[in-house]
Amino acid sequence: MSEVEQTLSIIKPDAVERNLSDKIKNIFIKNNLKIKESKKIQITKDEAAEFYKVHQSKPFYNDLCSYLSSGPIIVMILEGKNAVLFNRKLMGATNPINAEKNTIRKLYGISIDKNSIHGSDSIDNAKNEIKFFFKT
Ligand code: UDP
Ligand code: MG
Repeated sequence: MSEVEQTLSIIKPDAVERNLSDKIKNIFIKNNLKIKESKKIQITKDEAAEFYKVHQSKPFYNDLCSYLSSGPIIVMILEGKNAVLFNRKLMGATNPINAEKNTIRKLYGISIDKNSIHGSDSIDNAKNEIKFFFKT
């Protein structure tokens, strides 16, 4: 069974800074994930803290929030069959060292924190994360 889904993707500051946005967007397009919305923004540390609040008890939380708010990001709504899980597959493992060949994080990630891309990890989280950035 495959369902058309939407998921939230974020090109993180390290990748925007290195002008990798078009290359990353082309990976989505080539793999039949439609970019329904896309905007370049910079968020505050408080907004990053809200977005990543599921990680608030983690030792890396403070640095993570500082990092996501440190420069421009590109937030996108991706749409396609099984988009949530399929996008996670295209992204690769959190730590680029462990990511499979040709995944976005293997190709472009610098380190576990500067790993170039965010993607929702469940349908429910995708809905909430889309709402967070694209209020209708
Ligand atoms: N992160 C980090 N150190 C860690 C684990 C995660 O800096 O030890 C960062 C990393 O940028 C990651 C984000 O926190 O993308 C969110 O972590 P999560 O476990 O949700 O990974 P993801 O869903 O992004 O693969
Ligand atoms: Mg996650």
